[in-house]
Amino acid sequence: MNIQGKIIRNTDRGFDKAVMETLFNKTPLNRNPLMIVQPETVEDIIEIIKFAKSEGKKISICSGGHSWSANHIRNDSILIDLCNFNSYEINKEAMTATAGPALGGSVLLTELFKQDLFFPAGHCKGVCIGGYLLQGGFALNGRKLGLATESVIGIDVVTADGEFLHASESENSDLFWAARGSGGGFFGVVVRFYLKLYPRPKYSGTMMQVFSMKHLEDVYNWAYEIGPSVPEAIEFQMLMTRRTLKFLGAGIEAVAPIFADSEDELHEATKFLENSPIKNKAYFRTPFIPTGVKIMYRFAMTHYPNNHCWGVDNMWTNASIKELKPLIKEISETLPPPPSHFLWLNWQPPKRKTEMAFSMEDKIFLSLYGGWKNPSNTSKYGTWATDLMKKYSHLETGIQLADESLHTRTARFVSDENLLKLFKIKEKRDSENIFNEWHTKPKL
Ligand SMILES: Cc1cc2nc3c(=O)[nH]c(=O)nc-3n(C[C@H](O)[C@H](O)[C@H](O)COP(=O)(O)OP(=O)(O)OC[C@H]3O[C@@H](n4cnc5c(N)ncnc54)[C@H](O)[C@@H]3O)c2cc1C
Repeated sequence: MNIQGKIIRNTDRGFDKAVMETLFNKTPLNRNPLMIVQPETVEDIIEIIKFAKSEGKKISICSGGHSWSANHIRNDSILIDLCNFNSYEINKEAMTATAGPALGGSVLLTELFKQDLFFPAGHCKGVCIGGYLLQGGFALNGRKLGLATESVIGIDVVTADGEFLHASESENSDLFWAARGSGGGFFGVVVRFYLKLYPRPKYSGTMMQVFSMKHLEDVYNWAYEIGPSVPEAIEFQMLMTRRTLKFLGAGIEAVAPIFADSEDELHEATKFLENSPIKNKAYFRTPFIPTGVKIMYRFAMTHYPNNHCWGVDNMWTNASIKELKPLIKEISETLPPPPSHFLWLNWQPPKRKTEMAFSMEDKIFLSLYGGWKNPSNTSKYGTWATDLMKKYSHLETGIQLADESLHTRTARFVSDENLLKLFKIKEKRDSENIFNEWHTKPKL
């Protein structure tokens, strides 16, 4: 294979280390890719695809490596690591940007903020826009601006046939449809995203109330009841951990990041926590604290430290609070030490008009993040999240691809209709099936 970029073969010294370096999740893996290739140009990618076909090998793709399930590490496959595709350009006049898939969402948003602009990027540093936009993108200010992928207006993609194409609503629209929601099952290499930008919200910041575990029932009853009426400016989430605020005891952090465009909207949003009937039970409470995105990212990262092993799983649900209570109780009784945590995200989806593969969401999103530092603890904590989600799967309507664990548990991640449509497009665009897809998929 004659390319400008770097090739690291599984027979090279340091190969295993290079594999681990592509991953956020450091859980030891028993998978053996053939080689890692770091293309520098689109021509390199075309060459790699030709090579894979001639050798009868499959391809996997990595942008930022934040897939919890290490989706890009596959046996006997060629891994295209897009780390060199991270440039971006902002066009303030047109309110658009173009960006490579290995660009960190936080890098883009920090730069946009400086220019009084906004894009619905994710909540954590390090997550790159490649995987994030393909799976949907649950974003800062996402309840107002929608899923991040709804703000993608086009992509440049190298297909399984080695063609370099632009896809949008009017050109290669099948690929564009698939790219917005198929996540780790997408069948092409996206090398550039075309993004719609927004004005920076006038007010951004966070409010918080922290409760000890003894108020668990009151807290979740309140969250469930208030859910449908939470203003759109708030992405209301509750995080259960054995160490609240980094140094205090076990409890629940009720966090309300707020993005408001006017003083009235801000006032409406802050009322939600200020008037909460359980606010006096909180042992720690803040008013609205205006912050830029840098502080928001710093706060989020306290729960997702680097160099840890993770076992993660999730569900969308519309179950009643009575049905959810046994699950919440069992989580509180079995929650491993920090940084492990349980996220309750109030979602209440709007009716979406965007034509896209993404099609699975529900009133509440529940996600379990088992995190541990020492790989030797994998047998102790590794299956905590999946075991619980399996046990309570009768409460789920589906899962989010953002926090998927399809290597340990098969679950529905798009509607049956959209899954069927994805299969048909894949048959046409990747007839030789050279791109690896999701680890597992539900039967139709
Ligand atoms: C700490 C942390 C915080 C997170 N926070 C959020 C959040 O706030 N909101 C949210 O929605 N999600 C969040 N996620 C989930 C995250 O968005 C997904 O894991 C996403 O896939 C990560 O993107 P990536 O490019 O870094 O990952 P990768 O692991 O590189 O990509 C995941 C998969 O997408 C496919 N893929 C990636 N790039 C390309 C490409 N260029 N062309 C074709 N296929 C490609 C591949 O199949 C790849 O295996 C978080 C994950 C972590 C670990």
